[in-house]
Amino acid sequence: MPPVAKVEPITTARALRGPFDYLCPEGVGVGSVLIVPFGHRDVVGVVVSIADRSELPDDRLASPRRVLDHDLPPELVELAGWIAAEYCSTPARALALVSPPPGARAKLAWWASATGAPADDAPRRALSARQRTLLDGLRDGGRRQAGADLPALRRLADRGLVELRRRPVRRYVTHDAVGARRAQPPPLTGDQTQALTAIEAQLARDKPHALLLHGVTGSGKTEVYLRAAATALDRSRGVIILVPEIGLTPQIVSRFADRFGDTVAVLHSRLSAGERHDEWTRLRSGQARVCVGPRSAIFAPIERLGLIVLDEEHDASYKHEGDPRYDARQVAQRRADQAGALLLAGSATPRPESVHALRRVRLPARVDGQALPPVRIVDMRETAGALHPDTSHALVDAAKSIVLLNRRGWSNFVDCRSCGHVWMCSQCDVALVLHRSQDRLACHHCGHRERMPARCAQCGSMSVSRHGAGTERLAHDLQQIGHEVFRLDADVADAGALLRRFEAARRGILVGTQMVAKGHDFPDVTLAVVVDADGTLRFPDFRAEERTFALVTQLAGRAGRGPAGGRVLVQTLSPGAPSIVAAAGHDADGFLRAELARREALRYPPFSSLIRIVCSAPEAAAVRAAAQALRAALGEIDGAQILGPAPLFRLRGRERTQLVIKAGDRAAAVRAAGAAVDEVAADRTRRDVAYSVDVDPQ
Ligand code: ADP
Ligand code: ZN
Ligand code: ZN
Repeated sequence: MPPVAKVEPITTARALRGPFDYLCPEGVGVGSVLIVPFGHRDVVGVVVSIADRSELPDDRLASPRRVLDHDLPPELVELAGWIAAEYCSTPARALALVSPPPGARAKLAWWASATGAPADDAPRRALSARQRTLLDGLRDGGRRQAGADLPALRRLADRGLVELRRRPVRRYVTHDAVGARRAQPPPLTGDQTQALTAIEAQLARDKPHALLLHGVTGSGKTEVYLRAAATALDRSRGVIILVPEIGLTPQIVSRFADRFGDTVAVLHSRLSAGERHDEWTRLRSGQARVCVGPRSAIFAPIERLGLIVLDEEHDASYKHEGDPRYDARQVAQRRADQAGALLLAGSATPRPESVHALRRVRLPARVDGQALPPVRIVDMRETAGALHPDTSHALVDAAKSIVLLNRRGWSNFVDCRSCGHVWMCSQCDVALVLHRSQDRLACHHCGHRERMPARCAQCGSMSVSRHGAGTERLAHDLQQIGHEVFRLDADVADAGALLRRFEAARRGILVGTQMVAKGHDFPDVTLAVVVDADGTLRFPDFRAEERTFALVTQLAGRAGRGPAGGRVLVQTLSPGAPSIVAAAGHDADGFLRAELARREALRYPPFSSLIRIVCSAPEAAAVRAAAQALRAALGEIDGAQILGPAPLFRLRGRERTQLVIKAGDRAAAVRAAGAAVDEVAADRTRRDVAYSVDVDPQ
């Protein structure tokens, strides 16, 4: 009996459940990527296992059409299987995550090298001067990519003196001056040395314990990551560095490239398909052993992985919002366990979950020995307008400052002065936000935009009023301070360029959403301001306190990074809120202790796991019926509490209802949720209803 390849076709259809059997060609194994006949078409599929025999009769087994030349490491195939189960998705969708960029190919060019053939005397005299120079150059310099000199090289090849071959060229260079700036590492501080010792002890183990590097902003965490990576590389192990958003903090990529040169590959969505292909191939072949990138870089095809760094582990971008709704932090832990690698998470504001689960290593002070900047809570309850007079004065005095307001646009909503009509999104039950420079009202949930109305649609009145302020309005108001204003939010096309302009300016105010609080390092910023620190607190979410603490602390970390020191002003309507008071006192331990106690009392993560199931459909009645069926299908789950169904606001033209499972036994609850959704989704009378399962919703 010939062996059988079990192949999972990469399709997005949920109903299709593979794997399917094919004849297994020579050399094909787990991870091979094939083109297989499937129904009436050919599809790409991944071999997930090899079996001795098939349930199908021999003559029904098809042969793959083609074996593609890139294959997946078997660990990634296994990881995809785990993701599919853990996040209630399908194997095909999970495999699509770990597969190389589809459709891209290597870019080929002619490369020339000298053959060993002698070219003395007679043959050499037959060459032109230019050909002779070319040949001598190749004999001294080895292989080289052909350029404008290709015709001349061809003539040399005709004489058997030069060999020309088509070989891949790399489309992406990690760093402009790879190797040129190979920076000397600074000597470590005492705290860094201690942290590194603890990390290296784990790296030496077969099954390392994950560590949490809890270090205040500016405490030199990145330097510790760099040293840990060097140790892993010395042990011939590969390294993955996960970072939140490369567009906002490109410095971290260059720090790794400066230190390790060409062995660093970068994978992120802004690369072209060709560049991604080349970086992926360099990692797959082992030419590159370090991968830096955002959440999807956790799927880098690195074998013998030794270290995974999760920089800014509290960052929300680690959670993927499409199916499979994976959390890269959870996947990183799984991948580390699989490979016997160390997971090293780092943050100044670690999540309560991580503090609870991981061993902590501390960096309690800034590298430069400076104290953290003093934080003043500014009570806004008696003040009208966006800025307190004290804040305005401080902004005038500071040469450079950063101002955070976590709301985009000009005003939160607009309404009619005579009849009170509020402009709402036609597809979602939310108010539209005014973006004045574009003369548009926009929905921040579905992206719908419409022109700013000239008159009320309801009563025809011409007077429309705007309420609340977003970053656009604040940036406009801040012009009065007299410094140049730089606005950074999701409406800005090139965040990197804007940050570079702010960095170069002698005076200026950087104002924007949470994007301004990311790991920027501007030593001449002496003032940081949070406008409306309660913005994040008002969300009805058990993580509201954690988010607020992190946001205020991270922003505070942007101030006073240079010799001039700095200070922080936090404007708030709830000056007594625990998260704000703790952030103002730089009291991470106090905050974490209280927050963990609160979560334990309320049985929130990490003392339970949450699973959220959202049913949606164009009609409210269909959604209600589906949610009730789902509730019935879930029945009772041991040790779990099931909340809902509860209605959510309409989104993108779909009515929605959610159920939340608060589970003690996570694995059992995930299985129960998956089975219930499969059961209810199989009911053909409810075709319009879509179900989405979110394990560990954020
Ligand atoms: P964090 O990631 O904890 O915010 P960084 O790693 O960015 O901190 O370090 C802050 C600054 O201190 C950086 O400019 C970095 O180059 C510098 N630095 C880090 N470690 C050392 C050291 N041991 N000696 C001197 N400078 C250091
Ligand atoms: Zn009106
Ligand atoms: Zn909308």
